[in-house]
Formats: sequence, structure tokens, C-alpha cells
Amino acid sequence: MSPEARDAAEPRVVLSAAQIDEIVARLAAAMSARYVDGAVLIGVLRGSVPFLADLVRAMTVPVSVDFMAITPYTPNSGRVRLLKDLDLDIAGRDAVIVEDIVDTGLSTAFLRSELQRRRPRSVAVCTLLDRRVRRVVPVDIDFAGAEVADTYVIGFGLDHEGRYRNLRLIAAADVEVLAADPDAYVEVLYGSNRRSEQGAS
Ligand code: 5GP
Repeated sequence: MSPEARDAAEPRVVLSAAQIDEIVARLAAAMSARYVDGAVLIGVLRGSVPFLADLVRAMTVPVSVDFMAITPYTPNSGRVRLLKDLDLDIAGRDAVIVEDIVDTGLSTAFLRSELQRRRPRSVAVCTLLDRRVRRVVPVDIDFAGAEVADTYVIGFGLDHEGRYRNLRLIAAADVEVLAADPDAYVEVLYGSNRRSEQGAS
């Protein structure tokens, strides 16, 4: 990679691993205080998985975990569709939708109305990231991690073409750099680990 290309591929850390840990601790404490009798946490596949895993382990009340998957909203598709439904019955229970990021709000609004029809005691929304500047439909967020600006982000569940989900941090990425090469950030974000592992072997 040329020095110019490497500069363009330099990611900016939006949230460090330590900052994510603090957010998780704060949200888990707030949710444990609110749901003393427990709750059903519903992860939206696949981006919420690292966040949900950390959140449930930091909570101090009994929780159940289930997952839903939906099609991404595109202007062409015009609507969001359910790809994977819950296995659990949430009737009469407190349900919490757990999101990686609420962006336009279309996914969360769809999921909330879908869950309301199942007569839960309550439905709340918990998201690690909130990008309010891009909101298309209003969404009430009960437990919000950090607000982010209008830049594309990767890491800690957020992927680009399946990459970067297992990073411990969240970084702002240049979409044009990624469009040209989806692996553009691999070396800089995983490089030091790869080098130290090679050195250790
Ligand atoms: P929304 O329906 O609120 O527009 O967003 C739905 C989904 O789009 C999010 O759950 C997330 O998977 C994806 N998304 C939105 N913004 C970003 C982003 O900046 N980076 C990545 N990797 N995914 C995003």
C-alpha cells in the first residue's frame, strides 16, 4: 500500500475499548435497576452481538436472551421485513430491543411495533450508538450509549461487508476507501496483533 493510501486508511477511534466498557457498565446498572424482576433482551442480528454479550454479563438481574433478524431498509425495498423471529413468548414480559446503532430509526421503529403486537408488559430500546442527525422516523430510546456524528463507523459488532465486527473499539471509516478496498483497514486495525502473534510463534 502506498503512503498516501495508508494515510487515507487511517481510522479515527470514536470509542475505545475502555469507553465501551464504561458505557456497558452504566447501561447494565440502569437496566438492572429498572428490571428487578428480569427482562427479555432481544438482540438484532448480527451487529448487536458483542454489545449484548457484554451487557447481559454486566447485568445483575435474571435475563433471557433472544434474537431477531430483519432485512436492511433500502429506498428500493421500501420496507423492512422480518428474517428471523423470536423463539420466546414475550407476552406479559418486559422486553428490551438491543441495537448496535440507531441510525434512520426505521429498523427499530419496525421492531418495536412488531413486538408491541405480542402484548409484552413493556418494550424498551437500548442502543450502544445513537446517530440522531440521520433520524427519519422518531424513536424513543430508553437506554442510550453514545451519540455519534454523521460518519460511517465499524467495529464492536458493526461490520463492513462482514469484516471488522470483532474489533474491541469503534472507529470512523472512510466509505470511499472501503468501497475501493473493503480490507483497507485490516492492517492498521488488526496489524499490531498479527505482528505480535507472528513474533510470539
Ligand atoms: P437504521 O434502520 O436505524 O437506519 O439502521 C439499521 C442498521 O444499519 C443498524 O443496526 C446497523 O446494522 C446499520 N448501520 C447504520 N449505521 C451504520 C454505520 O455507521 N456502520 C455500520 N457498519 N452499520 C450501520
